[in-house]
Amino acid sequence: MEIFDKIGKKATEAYKITTDKTGKIAKETKLKIKMNNLKSDISDIYEEIGKRAYEKHNLKENVELEKYFEQEFTEIDVLSEQIDSILKEILELKDKKQCEKCFTNIDKECKFCPNCGAKQEEANKVVHEVEVVNNDNESEN
Ligand SMILES: [Zn+2]
Repeated sequence: MEIFDKIGKKATEAYKITTDKTGKIAKETKLKIKMNNLKSDISDIYEEIGKRAYEKHNLKENVELEKYFEQEFTEIDVLSEQIDSILKEILELKDKKQCEKCFTNIDKECKFCPNCGAKQEEANKVVHEVEVVNNDNESEN
């Protein structure tokens, strides 16, 4: 009977690995969709800025860009940060991370970047930041 227990155990382990992998792919797909939505939000804001800037030009009104588009610029900053976090999360799923200095995708376990030699921070910190951002976006589902 013992041998059957062992086979059973191995099968369960294999099943766990498979579902883990499928879960990761599903999660990656979800993250990519989320990222594309954010990118299209940014495009919408660019369009809005362009339209309003042209209107001002037509009316021959001089506006101070920094002030006139303050809200739009801030929104783009926020959305860009969210995209960065999602990119990190996707890399994390693949057991990869981005070198903070040269932005090469490197192995999560690397203590030093193989490309530029920069010392790498502990991966845990990145995971934590990503989880915080993720919780904000989860509410719409
Ligand atoms: Zn590097």
